[in-house]
Amino acid sequence: MSWEENVRKVEPYIPGEQPKDKNIIKLNTNENPYPPCPAVRKILDNFDEDRMRLYPDPDSDVLVSAIAERYGLKKSQVFVGVGSDDVISMAFMTFFNSYKPILFPDVTYSFYDVWAEVYRIPYECKPLDGNFRINPDDYKCENGGIIFPNPNAPTGVLENTEMIEDIIKSNSDSVVMIDEAYIDFGGESCLKLIDKYDNLLVIQTFSKSRSMAGMRIGFAMGNEKLIKFMNDVKFSVNSYTMNHITQLCGAEAIKDEKYFNETVNKIIHIRENTKKELSALGFEFTDSKSNFIFAKHRSMSGEEIFNKLKENKIFVRYWNKPKISQYLRITVGMPDEMKKLIDVLKEILS
Ligand code: PMP
Repeated sequence: MSWEENVRKVEPYIPGEQPKDKNIIKLNTNENPYPPCPAVRKILDNFDEDRMRLYPDPDSDVLVSAIAERYGLKKSQVFVGVGSDDVISMAFMTFFNSYKPILFPDVTYSFYDVWAEVYRIPYECKPLDGNFRINPDDYKCENGGIIFPNPNAPTGVLENTEMIEDIIKSNSDSVVMIDEAYIDFGGESCLKLIDKYDNLLVIQTFSKSRSMAGMRIGFAMGNEKLIKFMNDVKFSVNSYTMNHITQLCGAEAIKDEKYFNETVNKIIHIRENTKKELSALGFEFTDSKSNFIFAKHRSMSGEEIFNKLKENKIFVRYWNKPKISQYLRITVGMPDEMKKLIDVLKEILS
């Protein structure tokens, strides 16, 4: 007998690489290439460091209020956390406590099975079809909860809200979480359904469409009862999760609708242009509605292209996993970065 027998052993999630070398074209973790909105700079310039002596507001009221205002909700319908990873992890702990398995797709965000393992939640993966689409009938069986991203990651494939509503309606006994990390790049949110279904939790983030991955802000929106249960668990683990300066910056960022629309539209435009160029080079891809392109080449293997791009200081994401081992996930960067990507790909493929 050793203390090691009582360790909570887990195989951790592996985040995309954050290289130290500044000369790398970094298209591997779906960060936004544009800076946060200008008001964020002002908050940083005017911040009084004496405020750091004090604990932050445990309710993150200024941020919760700003999010509630932006989406036309009550404050009691909004939960904030340190990135949507924190929000989803709290939501797993709060809602997925059944002996029945939770359900998610077989190709999806690779953190879900890690949380399920660490919290000892049974789970079952439902296969996507040949076009990486969800079959709603797979989610009409007994379960302890449901989660999937929309658009899905790493495929970028968007499902329509009618199909998702069908899943939510058929599962009134369990909580259905829609992870909308990438919804702002061309998808329709399920937020419009939260008043109709008390088992729906919609989760979004400031990391992608609001250019603030480094600040760590995520949020969930849902029925007041769901949000209250989440806060009860959060306040039972750590009350002061989000620091003061992050709360202030987040509140400013969500107010600047004009900047948000401009940057999101630029990214969509670059995405569509890059698809055309990739197509001319022999790539095939899903109709991604996110800030990344999920592409495979007609003749060269995904792994080979990934390694060659890396040799040329261009980082994209690759998984040696069933169904997706030929694919690369390429984050949409600045136009000059995408031009360099295309130039290097031309060389690699010649
Ligand atoms: N959900 C999905 C589908 C993601 O791809 C990511 C980004 N890795 C997250 C959630 C978490 O994002 P964040 O914690 O930065 O909000």
